[in-house]
Amino acid sequence: METEVQTMKEIMQEKWNKRPLIISGPCSAETEEQMLGTATRLAATGKVDLLRAGIWKPRTKPGLFEGNGVVALPWLANAKKITGLPITVEVATAKHVEEALKFNVDLLWIGARTTVNPFSVQELADALKGVDIPVLIKNPIHPDLELWSGAIERLQKVGVQQVGLIHRGFSSYGNTEFRNAPMWHLPIEMKRRYPGMMLICDPSHICGNRTLLQSVSQKSIDLDFDGLMLESHIDPDNAWSDAKQQVTPERLLEILSGLIWRHESTTEQEFINALTTLREQINQVDDELMTLLGQRMKLSDRIGQYKKENDITILQTNRWNDILERAFQNAENLGLSKEFITKYFDAVHLESIQHQNRIMNS
Ligand code: PEP
Ligand code: MN
Repeated sequence: METEVQTMKEIMQEKWNKRPLIISGPCSAETEEQMLGTATRLAATGKVDLLRAGIWKPRTKPGLFEGNGVVALPWLANAKKITGLPITVEVATAKHVEEALKFNVDLLWIGARTTVNPFSVQELADALKGVDIPVLIKNPIHPDLELWSGAIERLQKVGVQQVGLIHRGFSSYGNTEFRNAPMWHLPIEMKRRYPGMMLICDPSHICGNRTLLQSVSQKSIDLDFDGLMLESHIDPDNAWSDAKQQVTPERLLEILSGLIWRHESTTEQEFINALTTLREQINQVDDELMTLLGQRMKLSDRIGQYKKENDITILQTNRWNDILERAFQNAENLGLSKEFITKYFDAVHLESIQHQNRIMNS
């Protein structure tokens, strides 16, 4: 009789293609007991595909817990043996890659503080040459898509076949609602640049707290992300790193069970027909909007001409305030947010100024 024992490589392959892909585990592997406890309780949820843990922790300031290093790798290997879950760690140097591979780590991820540094990313790429292991790249801490793309290119150039992305939000100064602002348009742009490339969301590092995890996770699903990486811990309040944002495996299950997984497409004809009709209407409206914007700029050109002839400045603050005030009033009735209207009019205003500038200086 033929026995069918799946190798870990095959299991990892299945996971790589599974949607949604759910990665969870503690921010840091603290003790063997914590690691095994978290892993078994995560496995019991039946919803987790991969076990994560930080072994080498990049900390903003010295003196904080910087991870247990290689000592923790056997704990992860043990957790895999007990639960059957493939394991993943963050790597930042060639040495990390070498150590992780020694312990048969199944997937590697590159942290946000590493993606910003082309030297580090190249060092990782060189260490990964000829190695058959999937790699997920977190976005750089600041909103620079070229660096994110650069990291993808560096890995692909050395032949890494399976490259995916993790959106963990972007750092900004001052107190904001999020620890790292999601700036959703940026991961969406990466989806456009790399169609078909896996993109998962890390709501834990976006939120920095537990309360927003559910809504940020749902938001990413609605934007057609391929999965989630969420931090979990047997005793979140006493975690050695990122205590505020970690949840117990049981809370994780609640969060995951509360999510509605929507798909980007379907083959259902009625739905497709309805969508096609609505999209045609949207195209129509977009065409009209463009025509109107063109007309608006022509009017602006004529005003520019008058300003030029009468030596009047382009920017007239009072007039600009009036425009915004009128727009806000209209927006409310039309169900448009103040934030959107501000962005829209800023863009229109800027274009208008450029038009008038051209006229002034012609
Ligand atoms: C982490 O995943 O624990 C981590 C350090 O994340 P990031 O690189 O996104 O800050
Ligand atoms: Mn963390």
